[in-house]
Amino acid sequence: MENCIFCKIVAGEIPSAKVYEDEEMVIFKDVAPKAKIHLLCVPKEHFATVMELTDERAALVGRMLQKIGRLRDMLGLADGFRLVVNQGENAGQTVHHLHIHILGGETLPWE
Ligand code: AMP
Repeated sequence: MENCIFCKIVAGEIPSAKVYEDEEMVIFKDVAPKAKIHLLCVPKEHFATVMELTDERAALVGRMLQKIGRLRDMLGLADGFRLVVNQGENAGQTVHHLHIHILGGETLPWE
């Protein structure tokens, strides 16, 4: 997708601090971290929101969650973490390529 910053990261056209990559997803450090550890898990396929989840994409998002769980220790998240998926304007979604925020590395505020 033209002009999508995460598509450009996936394609290697702009730099990112990648911590994991396979054929269908990447995980890289958020450039403006909101917690001690703040990563983004991004599917290589471009789609913006959960409203666009076909059965195949839903299975892909399931594999993304599974992968985050399996990489927990390697990512430094053994003591727990928070997953956030912002959807649309009211949630403050700024990049319109679905992504899962992974927050951890410290006790996270709730409220
Ligand atoms: P959201 O507000 O849920 O759409 O989240 C977008 C996230 O992408 C924000 O937390 C930004 O800090 C992050 N972000 C934007 N551009 C980059 C980039 N080039 N590399 C890493 N993270 C980025």
